[in-house]
Amino acid sequence: MNNSELNELKHRYLPRGATPAATAFAARAENAEIWDEDGRRWIDFAGGIGVLNLGHRHPKVVEAIREQLDKVMHTCSMVMPYAPYMELARELCERTPTRGEARKALLINSGAEALENAVKIARAATGRTGVITFDGAFHGRTMMTLAMTGKVLPYKNDFGPMPGDVFRAPYPNPLHGISDEAALAGIRNRFKTDIAPHQVAAIVIEPVQGEGGFYIASPAFMQGLRQLCDQHGILLIADEVQSGFGRTGTLFAIEHSGIQADIITMAKSLADGMPLSAVVGNAEVMDASGPGSLGGTYGGNPLACAAALAVIRAIDEEDILGRSQNLGRVLSERFGVWQERFAAVSHPRNLGAMAAFEFTEPATGEPAPEMAQALCAKARERGLILLSCGFYGNTIRFLMPLTAGQEVVEEGLAIVEACLAEL
Ligand code: PLP
Repeated sequence: MNNSELNELKHRYLPRGATPAATAFAARAENAEIWDEDGRRWIDFAGGIGVLNLGHRHPKVVEAIREQLDKVMHTCSMVMPYAPYMELARELCERTPTRGEARKALLINSGAEALENAVKIARAATGRTGVITFDGAFHGRTMMTLAMTGKVLPYKNDFGPMPGDVFRAPYPNPLHGISDEAALAGIRNRFKTDIAPHQVAAIVIEPVQGEGGFYIASPAFMQGLRQLCDQHGILLIADEVQSGFGRTGTLFAIEHSGIQADIITMAKSLADGMPLSAVVGNAEVMDASGPGSLGGTYGGNPLACAAALAVIRAIDEEDILGRSQNLGRVLSERFGVWQERFAAVSHPRNLGAMAAFEFTEPATGEPAPEMAQALCAKARERGLILLSCGFYGNTIRFLMPLTAGQEVVEEGLAIVEACLAEL
């Protein structure tokens, strides 16, 4: 079927809330390129929304999945466990910078499911119920993670009431007038206005906000947050679903801050496109809930675990973290050039290759989301997949594979530049 026939099926059979705006259908993909059902080539600067740090169909990952396919596809790890789950749990525990010497890992399917489980575990470990998250946060689309998500449209609008005991504080963002001190004061205010600190189980933070706009919490804020958590016996959960697995030039973004979380959630690039997520934390915390209390039918599927083990091997063998740092430098340099040349391009930022810039009205400095939309639309006309995001929808984020060849990256950046010139 070609794109046009598939679009007819899309409109006839998918619910409005899940109908993709995109009109091209992926037929095959390789590293940072996709070919659609009409045979058109696309450059992929979205990476399936941060899932493909190793690119489409990384050869080591494809090989590992094929090998596993010939062994076992599913038993349900709770019915009869298998080696890849155990091996991956060991790798993740050895590499995830959470507090304490001994760590344990739970494997499930999606980012939202990781966050749900992190909250369950924190509640069991502390005997408390409260959860504090941040404005602009995105933690998923299940009911609890929607309550934790700090953006109404399009995520929460139609679905209330939300589960209780979730409160939000301002994310540290000098660009929006919120200093580190103001953000810490915001949490202390929650203790005054909403919930006593001794009832708070966890504070959940994205060290770099993903959907919220690629805003980076400073090391000073993260250190202040750690202190505040320690002062009140609150667990600190770092949601690294989007920032983890090499995107920021370290395996986890929190490594830039010099502090450790109690629990880290991860998904997306963990398994290069296979549905897999993990909750990793201090062994005592992870062991708090009773036998049979955590898991799920598909959690830690053997094919997904095999893929993740191959991802970890490739990160080691192919200097993926170094590549992320280099790509970050390339993007940051280019953003600087664009900022000089195009009056509406503003506030470039990056932590490794987690890189973004914004569109603001040159005269007023007000966010200009329509320009971000226009840029993404123009880029698509020229065969480049580009994503916007942000509290105001005016941010352009770059999530191309870290394995993308220099030529493809340059080709994509040249398209962005040509489109910027036309806006
Ligand atoms: N947490 C963060 C930081 C995310 O960026 C996302 C997805 O974008 C999620 C959680 C939810 O992940 P999923 O869509 O796999 O449920």
